[in-house]
Amino acid sequence: MVKPPVSTIGDMPISPHASAPVMSQVHVGAATHCPYCALQCGMYVANGEITPREDIPANSGGLCQKGWTAAELLESPERLTTPLLHGNPVSWDEALDYVAARIEAIRAEHGPDAVAVFGGGGLTNEKAYQLGKFARVALRTSQIDYNGRFCMSSAAAAVIRAFGMDRGLPFPITDIARAGAILFAGGNVAETMPPFVRHLTAMRSRGGKLVVADPRVTQTAKMADLHLQLTPGTDLALALGLLHIAIADGYADLDYLAARTTGFEEVRTSVSVWWPERVERVTGVPVAHMREAVRILGEAERAMVLTGRGAEQHAKGTDTVTAFVNLALTLGLPGREGSGYGCVTGQGNGQGGREHGQKADQLPGYRKIDDPAAREHVAAVWGIDPADLPGPGRSAYELLDALGTPRGPRALLLFGSNPVVSAPRAGHVTSRLDALDLLVVSDFVLSETAAMADVVLPTTQWAEEAGTMTNLEGRVLLRRQAAAPPPGARSDLEILRGLAERLGCGEKFSADPRTVFDELRRASAGGLADYSGITYERIAAETGVFWPCPDNGGDPHPGTPRPFLDRFATPDGRARMVPVDHRLPAEDVDEEFPLYLTSGRVLAHYQSGAQTRRIRPLTQASSEVFVELHPHLAERLGVSSGDRVRVRSRRGAAEAVARVTASIRPDTVFMPFHWEGVNLLTNPALDPMSRMPEFKVCAAAVERCDDRERAA
Ligand code: SF4
Repeated sequence: MVKPPVSTIGDMPISPHASAPVMSQVHVGAATHCPYCALQCGMYVANGEITPREDIPANSGGLCQKGWTAAELLESPERLTTPLLHGNPVSWDEALDYVAARIEAIRAEHGPDAVAVFGGGGLTNEKAYQLGKFARVALRTSQIDYNGRFCMSSAAAAVIRAFGMDRGLPFPITDIARAGAILFAGGNVAETMPPFVRHLTAMRSRGGKLVVADPRVTQTAKMADLHLQLTPGTDLALALGLLHIAIADGYADLDYLAARTTGFEEVRTSVSVWWPERVERVTGVPVAHMREAVRILGEAERAMVLTGRGAEQHAKGTDTVTAFVNLALTLGLPGREGSGYGCVTGQGNGQGGREHGQKADQLPGYRKIDDPAAREHVAAVWGIDPADLPGPGRSAYELLDALGTPRGPRALLLFGSNPVVSAPRAGHVTSRLDALDLLVVSDFVLSETAAMADVVLPTTQWAEEAGTMTNLEGRVLLRRQAAAPPPGARSDLEILRGLAERLGCGEKFSADPRTVFDELRRASAGGLADYSGITYERIAAETGVFWPCPDNGGDPHPGTPRPFLDRFATPDGRARMVPVDHRLPAEDVDEEFPLYLTSGRVLAHYQSGAQTRRIRPLTQASSEVFVELHPHLAERLGVSSGDRVRVRSRRGAAEAVARVTASIRPDTVFMPFHWEGVNLLTNPALDPMSRMPEFKVCAAAVERCDDRERAA
C-alpha cells in the first residue's frame, strides 16, 4: 500500500473530493493528475487507490489503463532510496559533495560549458523552471536542453512562425465535440491517450466527421470516416495536395484570408504545382480520398486540423506542420470558436516544459535568451547581472552528440529523461554518455541511463510531491501531494538546492514548489507564456487556468482559453502563411534497406517505459518489443507471427518479435519505442528550424534471425 498520504499544496491541506483548498484539515487522498501523458487526466489518489475525477474536462471521469495502475509505481520494489556512487550506496551528503566537487573541477579545467544539463517534458513547471535557472545561475552553462525537443518541437516552431505563439491546442479540448469535421494527421490518441477519444466520439455522435492520416490502420484510424493511409515521410506532400484541392474546389475563405492573414498569394502559387495526381504518386493516397477529405473539411460549419508526432517527427517536421496550418488558414479555421489548428502534445508536461527555460534558446515565459529585454527582465528576477546569463546552447541531439568530445561537455546532469532508450541513434548516444567524465542521473529507479551513471540520485515521484503541470490545452493544473515519499528519496527541487548550496548560491534556490512557482510567475510576467496571474489557489478553485494569464492586481485576469479569437500573437495581429515545399525523407529506401521503418506508442506504455515497464498489469498487456509486418512482406521474408526477426538500418540492428498484420502498408514496418530497440535504428537527421530528429521514418531491412545466423 501507499504510505499514509499527506494531502497538501505546498503547506496548504486540500480536500480530497473538492476542488477548493480547505485550510484547517488534513484529509486522506488528494485530487491530483496522472503521471503520464499530456491529457493530464484528473484523479484522486487515496491509500494506493486511484479513482478518476469528473471535474477535469480532459478526462471527465475517464482514465486509461496506465492511469488506473499508476499507484503501483509508488510501491515498486525497484525504487531507489539511497544515492549510488559508482554503484555503491552512499549518504546524500557524500553524493552531493562528490557531484559538486567534480563539477567545480571540470569547470575549472574546461570552463562552464563543460557541464551540461538535460531535462524532461514530464517535469513539473517548477522543476523545469528551476533546472533552467540552475544551469544559467549556478553552473553558468549554456549547455541545457531537454527531451521535449524530441516530442513536439516542430509543431512549436511552425505555430510560432504562423501565429506568433505556441500553445498546443489554442482552444479548450471540449471544443472538439462541437466541430463538424476534424482532420487528424499523425496521431493515434485511441492508444496514446484513450480518454481523448470521448471528445472525438462526441463530435461524431453529433454528425461530425473524422479524417485520419496515418501509414497504419491504427485504432484511431479505425474510428475514422475516412483514412488516408499515406507512405511514411510524405505528410508534407499530402498537406500540399489537400491545400491545392481546397483552393481549386473553391473552399478558400477569401474574406477571412484578407482580414486575418498575410502570405496567401505566395502559398497559392507554391501549391499550384502539387496537383492531386502528383500527390497520389508521392503519398499513395488516392485522389478521390483527398478530394473527399477536403470536401468534409470545407463543408463543415466548424472544423479543425490537428497534428501529432506522426506528422511532426521528421527532418521537415516544421514545414509539414506549416503546410497543415496553411490548410487550416485557407479554410478560415484558426481563431474561430469551435474551429482551429492544434498540435496534440504527448509528454505529461510537454506544454509547460517548453515554456519556462529548460530549452537551449529560452528563458522563462517563452522568452528568447538572445533578446536583451528578456535577459534584463529575468536577470532582475534572479538577482544577477544580465551580462552573466549565458547565450543559447546546443539542441537536444546536438548536445548528446557532443558529450565527451574535445569541444563538448565533459559532465552531464540528467533529470526526468532516459536517452539510452529514447534518443535517436541510441547506440551512438550511449557511447557519448560513456565518454563523459561525470554522469549524474536523478531518477526513482535504475533506468537504462541511470545504470550508466557515476552518481544516481533517488528522487520522489508524481504523487509524492506538489507542483503544476500544463496540459495539452494550455490549462495549468495542480499536482497535489498524495503520498509520503519513501525515506531516502528527495525531490528534484531539493537536489538542485543541495547542489546550489555546495556551489555557493543556495540562497537563490528554494526547494518548496509554491515558492518556486511564485518566482516563476514573476519571471514569466510580460512574456508570451505569462503565468503571473495564476496561483495555486486559483488553479484549485477553477480546476485549472489557461495561460496567458497576466497579474492584473485586484481585477483578476480570467485566463485565455482561446487566445486567437481577435488577433494572432504576431506584430500585426495576422497569421503568417509561409510557402513550403515537399522533400524526400532524409534517408530514402534503396536495395539494401528496402523498407520504411516507423515508430510509435502502444496502449500499455508511456515514452521510454522507465515507469510503465515496472507495472505488472502493463507488462502483462505488452511485455516486449515487436515489429509489425504486412502479410505480403512476411510471406516474402518467410516470417510468421511470433518469429524473432532482426531489423537493421544504417545505424544498427535490433531484434524483435514479428507481428503479421494487414493494418500496415506492405512497404513499411512499425516498432514501438518503449524498449531499447527501435532507436538503435532511427535517423538523427535534424529539422533545420526545430532541431527535431527524424524519428518517424528511416530505411530498414528485416530478416529472420536464424537466416542471418545461418549465413554467418
Ligand atoms: Fe489519462 Fe494519459 Fe494518464 Fe492515460 S496516460 S490516464 S490518457 S493522462
